[in-house]
Amino acid sequence: MSISETNALETWRNLPALQQPDYADLDQLRQIIEVLRQRPGLVFATEIERLTKEIARAGSGDSFVLMGGDCAETFASTTEAQIRLKIQTMLQMGVVLSYGAALPVVKIGRIAGQYAKPRTNALETREGVSLPAYRGDAVNGIGFSASEREADPARLLEMYQHCSATLNLMRAFTKGGFADLNLVHTWNEGFTSNPAYARYESLAADIQRALRFMVASGAEIDGLKDVDFYASHEALLLEYESAMVRKDPLSGQLYNTSGHFLWIGERTRIPEGAHVELLSKVRNPIGVKLGPTGTAEDVLQLASKLNPANEPGKFTVITRMGADKIADVLPPVLERVKAEGIAVTWLTDPMHGNTIHTSSGIKTRHFDTVMREVEGFFVAHRQVGTVAGGLHIELTGDDVTEVLGGAFDLNELDLEERYESLVDPRLNHQQSLEMAFKVAELL
Ligand code: PEP
Ligand code: MN
Repeated sequence: MSISETNALETWRNLPALQQPDYADLDQLRQIIEVLRQRPGLVFATEIERLTKEIARAGSGDSFVLMGGDCAETFASTTEAQIRLKIQTMLQMGVVLSYGAALPVVKIGRIAGQYAKPRTNALETREGVSLPAYRGDAVNGIGFSASEREADPARLLEMYQHCSATLNLMRAFTKGGFADLNLVHTWNEGFTSNPAYARYESLAADIQRALRFMVASGAEIDGLKDVDFYASHEALLLEYESAMVRKDPLSGQLYNTSGHFLWIGERTRIPEGAHVELLSKVRNPIGVKLGPTGTAEDVLQLASKLNPANEPGKFTVITRMGADKIADVLPPVLERVKAEGIAVTWLTDPMHGNTIHTSSGIKTRHFDTVMREVEGFFVAHRQVGTVAGGLHIELTGDDVTEVLGGAFDLNELDLEERYESLVDPRLNHQQSLEMAFKVAELL
């Protein structure tokens, strides 16, 4: 990019930038940003443009978005097994939704970039000692010591390497034969038997019968050998996100190559803030979270900054109102946005409005409450005549015990068995499949 193009990208620096790390060594930060600017982009313009079109289709009800993955990826979890199980879980959910609802499913991982977290409290206090809060592996360490909790710019470069390794595996799995629909049975392998597993087995058998029938009838089935799988994360760290912007040599347009889809969190989505400013400069499809205090006015202002041309697929709103509030809060927002003719693809995040703490202080969510918000989302859209475009959830392919309920009815004691998330609780493999079956019914 030319100097003037780079400068035009830097306007965010003059605006309020919330939730940014407090780096002690600014020279080191500048050096690292310079290195990142020279590195290849992680995702590409043609993929990003294709995703925008797919999200547009979800916005008009011709497909459904499934977005999911960890609350916070960690460097330690960049293992082949963990990445594979996460992708397998998403592929399985995609099949359940797509077969159940007879709709194409746009699969987007919260993956290969989800390493930074906004925090409500800047400090964490334990036994009278206060240290900076953990802000994700991209910023500092989880260990409770002053050195671990210091914001370290070198972690940005380390994050880039983890993103790159994760994307490499993701492309191999989804384009290298593993995602072939003929192998739909094998995606269940590696998971322990459970009710959702069994239900999936029978659905996989149906699909395989249907495929054999099509082949026997002489139908040519293209497009089953690989799938498109996209990467998304919260674009929180402005230094990193701006360093990853590249100009596409073919079109001359700017893309944030840190991920295909980027969203702005509930805490940083102010229309006149730095996050909105930076992301208004790139072609990527952009999402914003909208919590229970969000208004139609917020959505309209954000749309006018992030999608001034009102292009379908470019602007997504991810509502996270809470199961008890969605019925009151969402319909008036939908009414007004619909009346203004603003192109929005609406997703539900049924996780973040429904976080609770157990009596022993563990952060969790209840599967039934989460499902109640999903149902409220479908009801609100049906009521207003808008489109429920997809699901945004925190999940993992591992058999963790972080969310209460589900077919195994996990209770508070079970949470102590295998709670691994460093930030928010995730649906485990079984709960994820269960949700996919339930949502397929709603569709
Ligand atoms: C998240 O998605 O992990 C998150 C922090 O969400 P929100 O911005 O909606 O609180
Ligand atoms: Mn979270």
